[in-house]
Amino acid sequence: MKPVDKGTLKVGILGGGLSGVAYAFFSSRKGYDVTILEKERVLGGLMRSINENGFTFDIGGSHIIFSKDAEVLDLMLRLLGENKVRNKRNTAILYKGRLVKYPFENGLSDLPLTENLSCLIHFLLARIKRRRKHVNLKEFFYNTFGKAISEKYLIPYNEKIWKMKVEDISLDFIGRLPNPKTIDVVKASLGIGSEGYVHQLYFYYPRRGGIQYLIESLREKIAGNVLTNFEVKHVKNDSGKWIVSNGLMENVFDYVVSTIPLHDAVKIFNAPREIIESTRRLKYNSLITVAIGLNKLRFKNLSWLYIPDSDIHPHRVSFPSNFSPENAPKGKASILAEITVRQEDPFFSKNDEEIADIVVDELDRIKMFSKDDVVYTRVFKIKYAYPLLDSYYRENIDKIKTFFDNIGVKLVGRFAEFKYINMDDAIKNAASHLNISNLREYK
Ligand SMILES: Cc1cc2nc3c(=O)[nH]c(=O)nc-3n(C[C@H](O)[C@H](O)[C@H](O)COP(=O)(O)OP(=O)(O)OC[C@H]3O[C@@H](n4cnc5c(N)ncnc54)[C@H](O)[C@@H]3O)c2cc1C
Repeated sequence: MKPVDKGTLKVGILGGGLSGVAYAFFSSRKGYDVTILEKERVLGGLMRSINENGFTFDIGGSHIIFSKDAEVLDLMLRLLGENKVRNKRNTAILYKGRLVKYPFENGLSDLPLTENLSCLIHFLLARIKRRRKHVNLKEFFYNTFGKAISEKYLIPYNEKIWKMKVEDISLDFIGRLPNPKTIDVVKASLGIGSEGYVHQLYFYYPRRGGIQYLIESLREKIAGNVLTNFEVKHVKNDSGKWIVSNGLMENVFDYVVSTIPLHDAVKIFNAPREIIESTRRLKYNSLITVAIGLNKLRFKNLSWLYIPDSDIHPHRVSFPSNFSPENAPKGKASILAEITVRQEDPFFSKNDEEIADIVVDELDRIKMFSKDDVVYTRVFKIKYAYPLLDSYYRENIDKIKTFFDNIGVKLVGRFAEFKYINMDDAIKNAASHLNISNLREYK
């Protein structure tokens, strides 16, 4: 930021998801005069929740609170205050009609014996070969987990969620790549329990209000303005001031931070044609969530379930009423089914009722519940859900970021930076853009 007197520096934050709200929180604490401009009726973006008929659902997919970083986890827990539950993850993969403990390599003894042995032998062969050079996700899977685990679960599941061939997925995508301990996989095959991905073995969730509670709690701590129902349509710089318009009203700022998806931001900031072209080449997945309220649930304790089967639309279903009992009326239960889609996929354009019917039929068919027990359904469509980092991603993103750097606009957030970030990263990113390193000071 330019060295201007803090009290007079007016900062416009475009977009009021977690990144925008966290940026507003930290910068208002630093003394800037902040305004969030959000197009929806409520703040929250991917973290919006709804409460209807006594059911609470996270409309952008069920969210859990966890982090490897103790400082940011503490901050999130302080924001929840007393309104939290701590859960032990109990997650499985639905494989050929049976539940296999998650991660798959830790659940080998849940497979039929021949499949268990095949997974173990191929895993050990991969360990003996010790191939560490992989250029894409497919090679990484074969080299790390062996052929059987890759072909039975990792490849079908990943191709289903990402809607891409695993050989086209760059390793940038995955962040820190998993690497299970050999002894744990051998034990898992023998039926001796071990846990994988332990950083989210225990997770937190708001007791009431769904994940949006975290946003509301942050919002209460912001000394600044929030304009909802304000869809930013044009931004221009006039003699050093930023003029932000929704087509009807204009707001003037000294500085703007954009957390809105790049695909829209380049048009709003009137970027040159080649930058708009680079943005078009950045691929992403949209998300459909189907919220289902039930009289009863077959799975009493499951947190969520992965479904690699390509005949069923949802790749994951979660059980919000198992996250917090207050997510459903007493005696009832709930499921949130998640389906990734590309914008051009005709499934995305189907009407909500048709989508709900298809998903309820499919989940009834695989005996997740009986459709006679369904008491509530609602469908949500989220255009920007998962950024996809293919092999062309880096050259495109570099050009786009240079454009925004040159005009002096900071990009912060999942689709603004085009990074696969979780809530903890969104908070940390917002803080680090303001050179804040010690989160413990923020109450
Ligand atoms: C299915 C799914 C599950 C997830 N689960 C977890 C989890 O369990 N744990 C976890 O830590 N993280 C999870 N995440 C990640 C988490 O949701 C994100 O890290 C976080 O919500 C990103 O916030 P953001 O503000 O960067 O983006 P967004 O939430 O996308 O916010 C962007 C905001 O900009 C607004 N906007 C867009 N265009 C305009 C415009 N023209 N004018 C004004 N406003 C505009 C949008 O309405 C939105 O509010 C999950 C994400 C997904 C998709």
